[in-house]
Amino acid sequence: YLSLAANIQKRNFGALLLHGAANSGRAELTNQLIQFALCQSPQDLQACGECSSCILWSEGNHPDIMLLAGDNSEERKSLQIKVEQVREVIDFASKSRHLSPRKIIHLPDALQLNLNSANALLKILEEPAPNCIFILQTNNINKLLPTIKSRCFKYQLAHPTWDEALSVVRENNLDNAEFWLRYFNGEPLFIPPFESYELVQLKSALLRPSIDAIFALVKELDPKRVGMAHLLDFMLKWLSDLLLVRQGSDASYFVNETEAMQKLVVKINYDKFFNLQEDMVFLTLWSEHPLNHKLQFENILFKYQQIYV
Ligand SMILES: [Zn+2]
Repeated sequence: YLSLAANIQKRNFGALLLHGAANSGRAELTNQLIQFALCQSPQDLQACGECSSCILWSEGNHPDIMLLAGDNSEERKSLQIKVEQVREVIDFASKSRHLSPRKIIHLPDALQLNLNSANALLKILEEPAPNCIFILQTNNINKLLPTIKSRCFKYQLAHPTWDEALSVVRENNLDNAEFWLRYFNGEPLFIPPFESYELVQLKSALLRPSIDAIFALVKELDPKRVGMAHLLDFMLKWLSDLLLVRQGSDASYFVNETEAMQKLVVKINYDKFFNLQEDMVFLTLWSEHPLNHKLQFENILFKYQQIYV
């Protein structure tokens, strides 16, 4: 943080690209940098937290920052930054500042730039107005247009080691810390999608998939409440572990269930298994749509029960 903040203060770049996995602390670092860049009286490269700029920022209502992002309320496929939005940004950049020492244009997901909006942005990205800084984020720098990348100062958020990540998780006193850390691929800034008792219920229904267990689970874990995407993610990870165990490896997420899975994998009909996996991947694409998730979840669980012969 400090070296980036120092670079912002000296204005060593007009555009900063922060890249790294979504849970790597990238969003937190970005927010901290933006608040600092806007702060009227920073101390030791930190925002003061008290000036009018810091207060407006904390209220999410700051006139010197502009968000450049696709419109969330529209359909998923149109989650793109439009050329008109880039024009608004160029206009914003040319106007004078309100209260902060500099203006910020923030792209929380640079991959939302399509070819047209990226091209519209190139010129201003190369020569941003003085006291105007672009901050871009992406979780996959490889997918970003080279012309955009080359105009930015790039900073990668390093993946923490397992021990570092675990100590971060333990500070938050989470139950099942190690399990969830593995579940989130070693990236420590997660919120567990399920309560401990829900985790127990899910695992036991998947280990012993009876009709009764499935009905009880659907009754308890309403997808509307816990989120269909979370349930699908959980089950897809479970299925991928079953495949690992079938190949003679240990489970990678559900390590403690490896032995129990060894007894399950010999009973699986793998045609049905792969059909189920395919159905679930397909559903994942639609999990944010207001379909009847409860019914779908029930269906998936019954199909899961039927993979065992
Ligand atoms: Zn301040």
